[in-house]
Formats: sequence, C-alpha cells, structure tokens
Amino acid sequence: MNNKNNLIDLDKKHFIHPTSPIKQQQEQGAKSVIAEGEGIYLKDVDGKTFIDAISSLWNVNVGHGRKELAYAAQEQMSKLAFSSAFSTFSHEPAILLAEKIAEIAPDDLNAVFFTSGGSESNDSAFKLAHHYWKLKGEPKRHKFIARKKAYHGVAAASTNATGISEFREMGGLHVSNFVHVETPYEISTSEAVASIRDMIEREGPETIAAFLAEPVQGAGGVIIPPRDYFQEVRKLCDEYGILFIADEVITGFGRTGKMFGLEHWQVTPDMMTFAKGVTSGYIPLGGVVVSDSIHQVLKERSTGTLFHGFTYSGHPTAAAVALKNIEIIENEQLVQNSQAMCKVLLKGFQKIKEDIDIVGDVRTLGLLGAVEIVKNPETNERFSSEVNAAPKVIDALHERGVICRSVTFGGTDIICFAPPLTINEAQVNDIVERLHDAITEVREAIL
Ligand code: PLP
Repeated sequence: MNNKNNLIDLDKKHFIHPTSPIKQQQEQGAKSVIAEGEGIYLKDVDGKTFIDAISSLWNVNVGHGRKELAYAAQEQMSKLAFSSAFSTFSHEPAILLAEKIAEIAPDDLNAVFFTSGGSESNDSAFKLAHHYWKLKGEPKRHKFIARKKAYHGVAAASTNATGISEFREMGGLHVSNFVHVETPYEISTSEAVASIRDMIEREGPETIAAFLAEPVQGAGGVIIPPRDYFQEVRKLCDEYGILFIADEVITGFGRTGKMFGLEHWQVTPDMMTFAKGVTSGYIPLGGVVVSDSIHQVLKERSTGTLFHGFTYSGHPTAAAVALKNIEIIENEQLVQNSQAMCKVLLKGFQKIKEDIDIVGDVRTLGLLGAVEIVKNPETNERFSSEVNAAPKVIDALHERGVICRSVTFGGTDIICFAPPLTINEAQVNDIVERLHDAITEVREAIL
C-alpha cells in the first residue's frame, strides 16, 4: 500500500491532470488524494472526510458508494462486457437505455446516439446537425452559434464551441464553424436575444446550422437565464429555421429540479446532449437525443453508412449502469428532492448575503447554486484578480472539509455548488454554515 507522500510523488511524476494548474501541481502536489466515498461524503487517504458539494464534477447525482451500480456493472460485465453496435449489430442494454431516455426526454426527442462523454456528445451533435442539413439540401448550413461563458467540452469542435477563450487558446486547433454571442448574464433577455439575431443576420441565416446553449451555464458560473429567455430563443430559431441544441450535460438527470433543465421554461430543443448524471459518473457515458423529424430525415434520406461512431457508442456495461442509475433517480424521487433542497440552499445563501458584506448575487436552480464574492454588493464592484477572492474561499472551505469549485473567468469570483441529489436538509445547512465561516475568514484576510 502506497503512503500519501509516495502517492503524491508518483502523481507529480507521471499523472498529467486534466484542466489543472500544472506548475502549481508540481510545486505543491495534490491537495487531497481521495480514496473512498459514501453518500455526499468523500474520504482522502489520510482518513479526512469532505462534503462533496460539487458532486465531484457536477456528475455524481445519486451520491457515492452506491452498491447497486457496482452490481449492475458486475452483472453486465460477467454476461457481456462489450459488444459492437456498429453496422447491423445491437445489444439489449443499449436498446433498453435508448428506450428509457426517449421515455424521460421531453416531447418528440426519441432517438439516441451514444458516446462516452459530454465533449464527444457535442461534437456528435454538430456533425449530425450538419449532416441533417446536407441531407435536406442545405449544405451551406455549417455554422453554429454558441454563447460567451459557455462550456461545451474539449474535443476539436466542442473546444471551439466553448465560450471561455482560455480553452480555445490552449491547443490552437481552430475549427472555424463557431461564433459566440452574449449570454444573459447581467443583461436583459432582449439584449441577449438581439445579440443572437444580429449574429444570424451578420453571418447569413442560410449558413447557420444550429444555436447551442446550456440551460444553466455551469462552468461559466451557474448562470441561470431570465424567465423568458429560452422561449424567445426558441421563437428566434423557428423564425430562421435554425436547430436548437440544448447541452444538458450538467443540467440533465434531475440536477436543476426537473429531469432536464430546459423543462423549466417549457421549451423543447431539436437535439439534446447529455453525459455526467446519466451514470452519476460511475462509468463514462454520454449521448445525443434527436427529435423524430431529424431522425426521420437521417433514416429516409441517407443513402449509405452514417460515417460517425465511437467504439464505445452504446457500451453495454455503461448502458446497464445508466439504466440502474435512472431507476435510482426515479425510485428515490431525486428530482423532487433536488427541487425541495433548492429552497433550503437558497435560504442559507440569502442569510450569508445578509450577514457578510462581500457577498453579491446568490442563486439556485434545483441543486445548482452560486454565491458571488464582490467588493461592493451595492454596485457589484469586483475584487481585482490579484486578491484571488474566490480561490481563497475554496481553500477556506477545503480546510473546513467542503469541496466545491470557483469560477474566476472574466473577472468574476463565483463559488459554485452542485451537491449530490440525495442530500438532506441537515446536510445542506451544514454546507451553508461552513461556507458562512469560510467567507467570514476570507473577508477578514482581504479587507
Ligand atoms: N458540456 C457541459 C455543459 C459540461 O459542463 C461539460 C463538462 O463539464 C461538457 C460538455 C464536456 O463533458 P466531458 O468532460 O464529459 O467531455
């Protein structure tokens, strides 16, 4: 058994961490080496317990340590661990999962293409959308409108769809089909929608394949749109005949207090991408759900092979785990719990805002929440980036045994929360109390 120091040495030497400060990692080593999890809690190799207030990467919706999911994987692996779904082969777990997703997805979203994660799902949606337009005789529709602050992943196309410029600048593989418009953060619906209309007109409506949006921007800082925004967006897409792709990678599977995030605004997209919560992170899986009318065009107008597929599209073991995971979400009424705990979390955040004068906007939708740290809550003036306000709160929370994430892009200091949907009232209040202490400590240090 490796001790912690040995593990940290090996970690520095051999493990290139995803989306991480690589130099700091080398100098300081990993802060926590996590060893096990149970419910909303994680334990590191030293035996210290943490509350996982961000569901690890916004994905462990049913909480840690669910033996049912381990047994579902074991049972499927023992019977048929892997089999191809290419060409004319199929298998029961993928068929049943596709049927289940069609059942729980809104309206006419009834056909599923599987992937291994969110980035692959978005890249697949873009290719399917362009392919659809080619089959419909409109091959010039190859551009996609995404939004600033959006996060859609790190594959070739999804990197370029992402509206956080650091991700696009990192690798330099520029796929030029993407343009970015304003997101409804600190601007009104009409300004945000006007920004989309202007972009459509500037690029030429006949060149636009689809508009792409997360129902709530997660990595951008839990940005919840105004009430009428998505209805206006849907109208605009219909006016120009543009497809609407919803990226439900974070917001799917109960995270926002509905099974899928867009349901809050009674808007149905033409395509919906998902990953994360579909298996609660127990095994990689993602996908794209398309509407009946898109599916019909793909089926009826294609002449040969649909040249798009991953080895692991519809992986039987992943599909079996997903089916069990959705069963847990339904049986334990976790969507309803997400809705109920939303109110408790918001009440806690509002009390912190009342008590501490460096707290700006606080917001929740289901079990997605954000607390903004600002210099002046009246004017919304922010701390300069040298102050490092949000990372300091994250460190103070870590000290107090709470794991969550901060967003500092674009000069913001946003603390993001997305605890497992199994969380109860006492546990939500525990997070809130520790957050109150952490912000109080940071306030004293920085003012
Ligand atoms: N889309 C959204 C909204 C996400 O939050 C993420 C990941 O955080 C992705 C796509 C990319 O998913 P993955 O990391 O599984 O490729």
